[in-house]
Amino acid sequence: MKVIDHIQQAKSTLVSFEILPPLKGKTISSIYEHLDPLMEFKPAFINVTYHRSETMFKKKTDGTFEKVEVRKRPGTVGICAAIMNHYKVDAVPHLICGGFGKRETEDALIDLHFLGVDNVLVLRGDAAKNESSFEPEPNGHRFAIDLLKQVVCLNQGVYLEEDIKNGGKTNFCIGVAGYPEKHFEAPNLDTDLMYLKQKVEAGAEYITTQMFFDNQKYFDFVKTCRENGINVPVVPGLKPITNKKQLSMLPKVFHVDLPTELSSAILKCRTDAEVEVVGTEWLIHQSRELKAAGVPVLHYYTLGKPKVIETAVRAVF
Ligand code: FAD
Repeated sequence: MKVIDHIQQAKSTLVSFEILPPLKGKTISSIYEHLDPLMEFKPAFINVTYHRSETMFKKKTDGTFEKVEVRKRPGTVGICAAIMNHYKVDAVPHLICGGFGKRETEDALIDLHFLGVDNVLVLRGDAAKNESSFEPEPNGHRFAIDLLKQVVCLNQGVYLEEDIKNGGKTNFCIGVAGYPEKHFEAPNLDTDLMYLKQKVEAGAEYITTQMFFDNQKYFDFVKTCRENGINVPVVPGLKPITNKKQLSMLPKVFHVDLPTELSSAILKCRTDAEVEVVGTEWLIHQSRELKAAGVPVLHYYTLGKPKVIETAVRAVF
């Protein structure tokens, strides 16, 4: 079932989770162990992130270095199929432009369609670690909207091979990312929203937000979206803080602010266990307020912390 249908048919706020494919060498049981404690909350859907390869330099026996491309977390397509089969819950694979060509993307979409996956969240991806700014593959997409258009084409039966006439149509519900605190490369929120609106006009049916720690930023973002004619559901993305390092890491990596009240409380903690208590309370407070405001879904980035998410969701639903 499509995410948009879940949202439109829901009588109250839904819950959904996001997971990261495990590092190479682990099995699907690591995913099940992660998700099992969360399934009692009956998530409407589960997102699985997608990751590009990283360039690494391996030392050879003669002392020189060899450049190799390593994809540490493959498996999004297979994990989505396993989740849907094992839990009978809809899976939402993320698709990214970075590191992927149009043909690989088309093949992934065909596989997802064969496997009965009805949803994709389309994203650009970040710059590779060895690049100063995002560079698409020579035969890939520069912006999320270009990838989105490829999915829309496939939904209309238009494949990359021009000799495929009236090909089978896929039926993906397409979500895109939105940034309450603006995307870090955008010169201002207005410009970022202009591109977000283009993604919606090109076929995105809902928006999932970057994490935020101040609900007012989400409420303001939704209001500004509406004022700018962006009327699709905006799903808030929520992440727990569980250690002190995140105080500097989250602003640096995700370009989000932490409210003073939260950062002061974390600074007073002596251990990460204490930080986790503060972070869990904050997540519960955020979730309760958003649910009371009638948001469509509370989408939790579980990323290695299913216990914290379990505690928070239990307190809210
Ligand atoms: P875009 O929409 O392409 O926007 C990127 C920048 O370009 C923005 O500044 C925008 O304003 C600008 N822009 C957009 N369109 C145009 C245009 N036509 N012309 C000029 N400028 C334009 N990353 C991963 O690698 N894997 C994941 O699984 C993943 N999941 C994510 C899930 C969520 C909910 C979010 C919020 C982010 C996720 N990311 C993931 C990170 C994401 O890939 C990065 O934030 C990336 O830098 C931007 O992606 P985007 O889809 O928003 O890009």
